[in-house]
Amino acid sequence: MKQNLLELDAAGLTAWFAALGEKPFRAKQVLRWLHQFGEADFGRMSDVAKNLRAQLPELAEVRLPQVLRDATATDGTRKWLLDVGNGNAVECVFIPEENRGTLCISTQAGCALDCAFCSTGKQGFNRNLTTGEIIGQLWWAKHALGDFRMPGAAVGRRPAETDFCAERIISNVVLMGMGEPLANYENVVAALRLMLDDNACGLSRRRVTVSTSGIVPAIDRLRDECPVALAVSLHAPTDGLRDRLLPINRKYPLSELMAACRRYLERSPRDFITFEYVMLDGVNDSTEHARALIRLVRDVPCKFNLIPFNPFPAAGFARSPAQRVRRFAEILMQAHIVTTTRKTRGEDIDAACGQLAGHVRDRTRRGETRIVTIAEVAS
Ligand code: SAH
Ligand code: SF4
Repeated sequence: MKQNLLELDAAGLTAWFAALGEKPFRAKQVLRWLHQFGEADFGRMSDVAKNLRAQLPELAEVRLPQVLRDATATDGTRKWLLDVGNGNAVECVFIPEENRGTLCISTQAGCALDCAFCSTGKQGFNRNLTTGEIIGQLWWAKHALGDFRMPGAAVGRRPAETDFCAERIISNVVLMGMGEPLANYENVVAALRLMLDDNACGLSRRRVTVSTSGIVPAIDRLRDECPVALAVSLHAPTDGLRDRLLPINRKYPLSELMAACRRYLERSPRDFITFEYVMLDGVNDSTEHARALIRLVRDVPCKFNLIPFNPFPAAGFARSPAQRVRRFAEILMQAHIVTTTRKTRGEDIDAACGQLAGHVRDRTRRGETRIVTIAEVAS
């Protein structure tokens, strides 16, 4: 079986070349070709010794998930549906903004954590994505958006972060697509290492964000092994309500989660945790909830990101009215907590938070929603 080189981070690739009797700089060369220039053809990796270049196709391959659908919303948000085999597909979304471009990627096909308000959770768990399937989403998006560097361009000293990011189309990556990243820890961390590695994608730690529903031991592990910006899906100020909305809370209640956030901040590249809070009409959006939240996060430097709930068929929740979201934000801000409200993007292509379900809805028949199977899309 050929080794898919996208599955390996720098350490893995170095070990793989060492087993062939090759020096570590070969790994660096190949990482650059794969992740900086987007080159998947070994024959074109011009600084790799000719005999090795000729040998590589017998031993290795660059296998990417196949793109089943590529849709662009009226607001410029773009979504790719990627086939990951056995009838599973995952989604990946690019969100262009004035001063940055964010790619939201998936880490699992489905999710086992079954949060009450999440469409991915409703579909159940299929499997973990491999490192190559996770980094493959960034590869495809860079390819489609023309964000790979030309091989001729200088690969010199890394410019200051502002310049470095300004010249990129994808400046930020968030692991907020389908799945719980920290439930697929090993593969996610290897993919994170590739995102951060200067010989690979070279993104700043501050511009790569893991979003978690709160798997406490894995938050600690990430802190020790690969700290990046952290977003925690909070969604409720009390254990009673959070137990209902996010079943994982029964295992890791709020007191433990808050303590893990404080520990994370000791090593985090950012000096705050982002708390995500989905606004569910009549469920978690009252002034009392806001006040209880302020008490809860008293000892955790944080920012809040309020997410208007994005409906999906049979969700059983409704979006809080805009006026209530504003009031909620005001109360938090009066307590000096920086609070933003997430703009809903890509609604016309079902690309908004919590709507990624790995299937494509057929909108050609009015008033009717039909789930199109992957086979149909591909054909
Ligand atoms: N599993 C991780 C990351 C993926 S979900 C997590 O839960 O954090 C990314 C974000 O979208 C989370 O904050 C999640 O709670 C939120 N979300 C899920 N379903 C949603 C919906 N229907 N509307 C708005 N946000 C939703
Ligand atoms: Fe999984 Fe996150 Fe959805 Fe919860 S919100 S079911 S953890 S993807």
